[in-house]
Amino acid sequence: MSVSPLAAETRVKCKGDGVALCNTPFRDYIRAVTDPSDTVLRAITDDGAFRVITARTTNAVRGAIEAQGATGETARHFGDLLTASVLFRETMAPNLRVQAIIKGAANSGSLIADSHPSGQTRGLVQLKGDEIDLGQGAVLQLMRTLPSGRINQGVVEVPQQGGITQSLMAYMQSSEQVFSMLAVGTVFEGGRVVSAGGYMVQLLPEVGRGPLMVMTERLRDFESIDPQLADPQFTPTWLLDELLYGMPFTRLEESSVRFECWCDELRVVSALASLSRDDLEHLLSSNEVLEIACEYCKRDFRIAPARLRGLLEQS
Ligand SMILES: [Zn+2]
Repeated sequence: MSVSPLAAETRVKCKGDGVALCNTPFRDYIRAVTDPSDTVLRAITDDGAFRVITARTTNAVRGAIEAQGATGETARHFGDLLTASVLFRETMAPNLRVQAIIKGAANSGSLIADSHPSGQTRGLVQLKGDEIDLGQGAVLQLMRTLPSGRINQGVVEVPQQGGITQSLMAYMQSSEQVFSMLAVGTVFEGGRVVSAGGYMVQLLPEVGRGPLMVMTERLRDFESIDPQLADPQFTPTWLLDELLYGMPFTRLEESSVRFECWCDELRVVSALASLSRDDLEHLLSSNEVLEIACEYCKRDFRIAPARLRGLLEQS
């Protein structure tokens, strides 16, 4: 059967004869946890040379990791990827939906981070082995959905030193031609996310080498921000002050980020409408309520046969 080329969002859990539809990816959606304390803060240095964005994504990352049941290194990379998707959207496409995708090496699976302009954040972990492999052959893909529905995307190989930070930095340079310095991090304690976040510093056009050298030197202390994330004082404001210590800057707007899916029953049903008539008839033949779980947030939807029949008539 044909399915949407977009990322698999929903897994159909089947009952009885509905088995044929198991593992069918659907576009769907949801609503889950919100926490206003995750924020993204923007600033610009007063010399006009740099744009700086700092983010706290602790709750969003924790929620997505727990929903996906990710553990170990996979959870850390997934958390970093979620923060990277937020930083990328905020700097390059604040009004567009951004998906950041890691396709692991050695057919190890993929990680998907999905960042919505509203601040809603969700993700998918699809492993084929025990852990995602960011070794040679792994790639980072970034996609933004334009208002027309067209998708603008680019791909970069995960650099040898590995990690999401290095991958996003390489992507910004090669696909966006924007010189950026950044770091993302996810800190765990006893397997639970206790802090997550990151920053991105972008060199604005037509700035000389002087300010760049000063900033590059300054950011050497922030190549990994795990120590900052683990600091009890950590907030986007605090991190901004640390990054730009002694450098005049102006704070700009602040926005919120949270773990929240955008699936709903209407989307689930719309996705079913894209199935072939044969598939729908097959589903109906069981005459049982169809259970569909959103793959991002694991929310269950129950679609009654009557609702399906209406769809069948339309198709
Ligand atoms: Zn959902």
